[in-house]
Amino acid sequence: MYNSLKEVQHKLYNKNLQLEEVVKFYLGNIYKHNKEINAFLEIFEEEALEKSKIIQKKILEKKAGKLAGLVVGIKDNICYKDHKLSASSKILENFTSLFSATVVERMLKEDAIIIGRLNCDEFAMGSSNENSAFGNVKNPLDKTRVTGGSSGGSVAAVSADMCMIALGSDTGGSVRQPSSFCNLFGLKTTYGRVSRHGLIAYASSFDQISPMTKNIEDAALVLEVISGKDNFDATASSELVPNYYDEVKNFDFSKKKLKIAYLKETIEHKGLDKEIKNKILNIIKDLKNLGHNLKDIEFPYLDYLVPTYYVLTTAEASSNLARYDGIHYAYRSSKKSKNLKDNIIKTRSEAFGKEVKRRIMTGTFVLSAGYYDAYYSKAQKVRRLIFDKTMDIFKDYDFIILPTTATTAFKFGEKGENPVSMYLEDLFTVHANLAGIPAISVPVGKHSNGMPFGIQIYAPHFHESKMMAFANYLNNL
Ligand code: GLN
Repeated sequence: MYNSLKEVQHKLYNKNLQLEEVVKFYLGNIYKHNKEINAFLEIFEEEALEKSKIIQKKILEKKAGKLAGLVVGIKDNICYKDHKLSASSKILENFTSLFSATVVERMLKEDAIIIGRLNCDEFAMGSSNENSAFGNVKNPLDKTRVTGGSSGGSVAAVSADMCMIALGSDTGGSVRQPSSFCNLFGLKTTYGRVSRHGLIAYASSFDQISPMTKNIEDAALVLEVISGKDNFDATASSELVPNYYDEVKNFDFSKKKLKIAYLKETIEHKGLDKEIKNKILNIIKDLKNLGHNLKDIEFPYLDYLVPTYYVLTTAEASSNLARYDGIHYAYRSSKKSKNLKDNIIKTRSEAFGKEVKRRIMTGTFVLSAGYYDAYYSKAQKVRRLIFDKTMDIFKDYDFIILPTTATTAFKFGEKGENPVSMYLEDLFTVHANLAGIPAISVPVGKHSNGMPFGIQIYAPHFHESKMMAFANYLNNL
């Protein structure tokens, strides 16, 4: 087993390890576990082995990139040129990507090896990976339970050692919630920190590509490579990209006392599992004992977060998903059609899953002439209020801490047919996407039911280094 990229690199450079062995280790685990877990939709075996030889040579010549030694899996909504890309949807089955996402290009340039593409909820819509057109992903820690979603394949692959780290996308919690369910660090960056070019759009003003890792160091090293300005994405920020790895190491919270807020409404929430609540209260107590300044503050908008998120993201999705018409590319209905419109209707009815259809319809409704003001425009205003209130908190505090999820990983089918009970999974995570701030889920405990859970840190925009350093600190408490 490999614990971190630095460890692998150390061995590779000291000639104690061959990169091919590393790739074979992960391939071996994929062949052992993937049939049952269903994390990978496709494995790029030959390519990965071939690359390992090329990069091995570069290592010997001391010409290898910063990520040499990294074996990464990518969520199946991130474009990789000449490779299939489906967003776990039937509508894109057999579609081949014509270009690579900026994050993919940047990682490949630094000699990362992409080992395969990972299952997820269809178009990243869901919280359990039960919405994939290609089957559920099982939680490697208890196969009767879900991995969370939508980046379910990503967390399962890392958790079962089928790759070293994985990239996913977080629109409302899709990196953090499954990380909490699978005992990983799940980072969501500041909106605009990482280019979205080549990420299949779900809700463009929320989406961020981010890593899921077993440790903070790997997340920092990858973030250093994938972040930064990009001419292909006007929303990618030109804010300087620091050396995250070095910066994270340089924070010393035993000397520097922190001001931390915790949101009363989240900790007092009636749905929050008792053991998770107690763990958070203990962490608060420990931090106070270490001399940090902690204070509970009121956040009166908690009940508005999920509705605001679902109005805005479905609106954006209804527009983003309009391109899947069977005419431009991918799936087209072969049933006899009366005319073009009829063919488009048949294509979309046959190939989109139930949840995706529900969101397209909801989004179209909230944007329609008669309801625009009542829903879409109102939700935009509420988003602004949430943003302002959050910024107010950060005037006085370094971080906010709160739960990632109300419970540990649940069982398949447990949420039933009512979509709202699934949407409530996002209660503690969507806030960060609505405000565009960075957030991270930190693995902190094990429940008496045997499952892990994380707690979340929110930080001001572009404070990723300090937030990751604090995540490490919390993890080691
Ligand atoms: N669970 C949320 C949703 O279904 C978040 C999804 C995501 O972050 N991609 O929309």
